[in-house]
Amino acid sequence: MNWTQRRAWQHSLARLLAWLTACLLAGALVGHPLAALCLGLAAALGWHYWQIHRLLGRLASRRLLAPPEGWGVFAEIQARLFQRQRESKRRKQRLHALLRAFRQAAAALPDAVVVLSRSQSRIAWFNEAGSELLGLRHPADLGARLQHLLRAPRVTEWLERGAREPLIDLASPADPQRRLLLRLVDHTPEQCLLVARDVTKLMQLERMRRDFVANVSHELRTPLTVLRGYLDLLDSEDCPGLAPQIDAMREQAERMGRIVEDLLTLSRLESTERIRPERVPMRPMLEALLRDARMLSRERHDIAVEDLCPKDLLGSPGELRSAFANLVSNAVRYTQPGGRIRIVFQGEPDGGARLEVRDNGPGIPPQHLPRITERFYRVSSSRSRESGGTGLGLAIVKHALNLHHARLEIHSEPGRGSRFACVFGPGHVLDPGPDPHAATQA
Ligand code: ADP
Repeated sequence: MNWTQRRAWQHSLARLLAWLTACLLAGALVGHPLAALCLGLAAALGWHYWQIHRLLGRLASRRLLAPPEGWGVFAEIQARLFQRQRESKRRKQRLHALLRAFRQAAAALPDAVVVLSRSQSRIAWFNEAGSELLGLRHPADLGARLQHLLRAPRVTEWLERGAREPLIDLASPADPQRRLLLRLVDHTPEQCLLVARDVTKLMQLERMRRDFVANVSHELRTPLTVLRGYLDLLDSEDCPGLAPQIDAMREQAERMGRIVEDLLTLSRLESTERIRPERVPMRPMLEALLRDARMLSRERHDIAVEDLCPKDLLGSPGELRSAFANLVSNAVRYTQPGGRIRIVFQGEPDGGARLEVRDNGPGIPPQHLPRITERFYRVSSSRSRESGGTGLGLAIVKHALNLHHARLEIHSEPGRGSRFACVFGPGHVLDPGPDPHAATQA
């Protein structure tokens, strides 16, 4: 109990005591002290009830209490309630001001901000840019599901997959010329925040870059074919003095050809928005990979396939073959002669599947791993060139897997070897169908 409370109690008790003494004295004067004391007690009780009634009435009316008058316990209760009410009013005003400031800031943002319910993606609030970029109408679209308003299969798929990665290059529903980048941010346990940014300029630049690389590669193809044709006609035996130069020219022309082809593959993958998925029978795929690996290795390695999952994949056979073949080719090219290479196809606990290429080659130091899938990034340029690498293999793998919503996992330890795994979700795994080889043999 603090000082003011103690004073209030002392004041109230002293007042009661004075009142009862006065009643007792008055009663003694008229010869009925006990009756006067009882009357005094009843009056005191009545006064207390009246105070409680008054307090309750004020609280129930939800009006602002008046500052307290007088002394005693009831005045103290009223003072405390008055103080609480004033504090909560001030807090409310502060919160209102803060909310207004936040809303004004969110409304002024050039990015569209939409508050969505987490379970159903229903729209709870959006700013002005939400109308401009996503075509949302206020208040008609409040409570509607985002998928129903945007009506883009990519958005529905993206939300169904949990929207962990940003969705890039979506046409704005308000103006298809504008390109958007969508990102879903965790907000509260019940709500999340959708942020849509206008990336039209960035996409134009990106398209220009892509077109430039594709055009340059395409333009280089014809002169290269001519050069290679003439080089093939030159026989080093006819001019033995120039034999090393002719061989070097042939080798470099081959290398340039491979770079041009890889660049064209990468451009094609980058400009493909979606693949037309079909069954990819895995048994023939694994057999073909083993054949390619053995041909490339020329019996310098111990290569085998471990088929541990009787499933097929759903995707583009060409793109998947190119991705897997790149991993196998890297394992063969970077693993020392006598090394061990395994191509393993196995199931995942969630119903998905993974194709893993394991080797006991030189491995990759950990500092290189985050950048290893970038174009032309090499751990050792000389080694890559010597082995006929273009520096584009893993970039092709990553893009091909992205089109299948699959991911590339890389585990590597210098001196012990590497494991490159293509991990597919359950949506891209099928129970095996009829074997095309069996059909042709029959
Ligand atoms: P490259 O054509 O140079 O092989 P990639 O994109 O396929 O280009 O690979 C990038 C780099 O990753 C390579 O230069 C090599 O240093 C490293 N790398 C890839 N696969 C392996 C592997 N199995 N073992 C060791 N290093 C590897």
